Amino acid sequence: MKFCSTCGATVEFRIPPGDSLPRHVCGSCGDIHYQNPKIVVGALPEWEDRILLCRRAIEPRLGKWTLPAGFMENAESTAQGAVRETLEEACARIEVGDIYTLIDVPHINQVHIIYRARLLDLDFRPGEESLEVALFQEADIPWNEIAFRTIAMTMRHYFDDRRSGRWSFHTGIVTPDMPLP
Ligand SMILES: [Zn+2]
Repeated sequence: MKFCSTCGATVEFRIPPGDSLPRHVCGSCGDIHYQNPKIVVGALPEWEDRILLCRRAIEPRLGKWTLPAGFMENAESTAQGAVRETLEEACARIEVGDIYTLIDVPHINQVHIIYRARLLDLDFRPGEESLEVALFQEADIPWNEIAFRTIAMTMRHYFDDRRSGRWSFHTGIVTPDMPLP
């Protein structure tokens, strides 16, 4: 950040009095512009023994497969965000179930939250940000072509839990050197 979004003056990057971390502080109006992690919300839509994946039409990871997910918007709940992202990316309608994974990605200042969901019908097609949308059985998941580690971790938990019949909420953390699970 170079300029204050309140008054347009130049900002300085320094530790404000009483704080412990450097912030963008306006030298003119005094506003402190805090920057905090972004939340990514998404869904794992199930249809019988298959799950819905989207192939990305945009960077990053163009051409790779992912669950429908994206940045949470202001004024919506995480579950509403999961429904919206699924509609935008897969033109698919879901009923959101339990929150399933919450994975921290501190090196890029993000938290990823994925819900289990039930696909309501088979009337889906690629949205603007997808090249292709398809249902996959576990044996057909393109594990080496998954866009994000948080998504691969979520799907690994899903198939493990489904096998064991014991469903639980999973948390985790992704570090920059981690390979795809
Ligand atoms: Zn200012």
